[in-house]
Amino acid sequence: MKKIVLAANWKMYLNESESISFIEKVNSDKVLFENQDIVIFPSHTCIRSVKDHLNLNLKIGMQDCDLNLKGAFTGASSVHSIDVDTCIIGHSERRNIYHESNDNISKKLNIVLNSDVEPIFCIGETVDEKNSSISEKVLLDQLSILPNKLQGKNLIIAYEPVWAIGSGEVPSNDYIHKMLSCTKNRLKSLYSDADMQNIKLFYGGSVSADNINELLEVDLIDGFLIGSASTDFDKFKNIVKQLKL
Ligand code: PEP
Repeated sequence: MKKIVLAANWKMYLNESESISFIEKVNSDKVLFENQDIVIFPSHTCIRSVKDHLNLNLKIGMQDCDLNLKGAFTGASSVHSIDVDTCIIGHSERRNIYHESNDNISKKLNIVLNSDVEPIFCIGETVDEKNSSISEKVLLDQLSILPNKLQGKNLIIAYEPVWAIGSGEVPSNDYIHKMLSCTKNRLKSLYSDADMQNIKLFYGGSVSADNINELLEVDLIDGFLIGSASTDFDKFKNIVKQLKL
């Protein structure tokens, strides 16, 4: 059975002391959390403290990075600013609130792919796009920035319908399967079988302990990107427990 990855995107919910207190609870629940494939994405300012307090072998990621590596970019954080395992690129909140274009996202994706950090590249349609029946076209457009070769690098694509993020609304398994199939077919047309072995597909959008078991029935899902439910220790613990059952 494949090992499902849980990626906990804390967004800007937890400050430094809240992040440390979450990690201390994880440390004291070692048996549950160890040997799970979990990546935690704290705010940039809390990454150092989270790494210093964590006593288990969980991965740590950045929620976003700048499209430059170093230099006169006030307020920005580069993927080389701190040692992380993973970096989220193209999250819908970056696209919609900070107006990040496909062009910007493409530069960030290349910067991450050229480093030792594994990118989680987010794609997904808005509710208007879904209602206009152009969801697959939107995904293909977002996927058009992918490089032609992966050269042995890992890549995670997170399908996150914008209308499911933070809304409590989760698409049907058939719908998720259709969108992930469309994504996978596009990837297969680009990449060799060897490269495809290094690609994982995630689902994100209102994942909780109540729906994760049903979502796990979608065979194309290799992991979940989880927002608000990952910021509450008890809710997150319940999600992790479902994977252990
Ligand atoms: C997200 O923002 O990536 C996300 C999936 O959020 P939520 O789980 O809160 O819907």
